[in-house]
Amino acid sequence: MLSLEEARWRVLEAVGTTEKVRRKILEAWGHTLAQDVIAPHPVPPFDNSAMDGYAVLASSVRDAAPESPVRLRVVEDLPAGRVSCREVGPGEAMRIMTGAPLPPGADAVVPVEDTRAEGGTVLVMRSAQVGENVRKAGEDVREGETVLLSGTRIGPAEMGMLASLGQPEVLCHRKAVVGIISTGDELLEPEEELRPGMIRDSNSFSLYGLVLEADAVPLRLGPVRDDPALLERTILENVDEVDVFITSGGVSVGDYDVVKEVLQRVGEMDFWKVAMRPGKPQAFGKVRGRPLFGLPGNPVSVMVSFEMFVRPALLKMMGRREIFRPTVTAVLDTPIGRKRGRTELIRVIAEWREGRYHARVTGPQGSGILKSMILGNALAVLPEEVGRLEAGEEVTLYLLR
Ligand code: AMP
Ligand code: MG
Repeated sequence: MLSLEEARWRVLEAVGTTEKVRRKILEAWGHTLAQDVIAPHPVPPFDNSAMDGYAVLASSVRDAAPESPVRLRVVEDLPAGRVSCREVGPGEAMRIMTGAPLPPGADAVVPVEDTRAEGGTVLVMRSAQVGENVRKAGEDVREGETVLLSGTRIGPAEMGMLASLGQPEVLCHRKAVVGIISTGDELLEPEEELRPGMIRDSNSFSLYGLVLEADAVPLRLGPVRDDPALLERTILENVDEVDVFITSGGVSVGDYDVVKEVLQRVGEMDFWKVAMRPGKPQAFGKVRGRPLFGLPGNPVSVMVSFEMFVRPALLKMMGRREIFRPTVTAVLDTPIGRKRGRTELIRVIAEWREGRYHARVTGPQGSGILKSMILGNALAVLPEEVGRLEAGEEVTLYLLR
């Protein structure tokens, strides 16, 4: 048997990266940056007001207080977007809106709440420090600063930053297209009536969601009956459209061997027994250079196998720097009975409480108990050599959400 780590390492070794493409900001969400982004100018680009109020010299209002307000002459009105060409002198003020450039001479903004307008003048009720309510040029981003690193996922804040730096498009890795094929004579579509001996195909839907969650592009190409010709055709007809294939089912011992036979015929495949639970039988290889993951059929096995092998591989292919789920140490609130010998991935509910993570088992852990993946938000990793764990002991968790 292969260890989970060894199997994972072999998979990651075998996958390359998708090509670099230019994406407009609005199309870049969920992509991975294939370039560093360096600020061509500071953000904000100029000193500006953080409040609606009056731009003044702090020295003009040094003695201002509610019982002894200081009267200043209002010399101009500055909405956001307008630049003043005149200087603020001692005894003067300019009405200024949030975001408007600080006029020359002024070194502080008194919020409008601390003033009272009277004709062409303003009464200032309190003093101000130099720099108060002023946002300095470059306080967010300095000119020349590397703001975003290659390998970063482009999310909402990155999109905003690209826009504010004047980068309408960026170099990203193309999203991988993932063909999903569930196999089995017993599989029905969700809209079909149940018939004796039949179940509905859930795996291709779970996988579809997992692929989306990994920022790749799913293509549902099944379900396919346990018919070698049909499976072979489905793979070969789509091989030019996809970067990766995932099949589910048909790779366990004693199986109908249809999937194994076809995979061996159309690609260079290895069939592994991985020392993990769930998900011992795995197939991995390539069809015309495209990685193919032959995942086991049980609904939990397929999802856990995706988490362990496919997700990190997809993220690596798309150039992501961080390809693994975050791990944390948690204390068990419920015991876990188990047999040694395989790395076990237990579905748990992780919760931050009293200064640390706690984990409790979701309930039955059979590889067909899909509900465990609904209830659980993390996978507890029990190494091969570890036996029964008692409440109070520590475990490592992969946080899934
Ligand atoms: P297999 O590996 O093909 O022997 O499948 C193992 C178990 O998973 C069997 O009980 C199958 O009925 C079930 N299974 C296989 N494929 C799916 C699927 N797409 N959706 C739900 N269950 C499946
Ligand atoms: Mg099957």
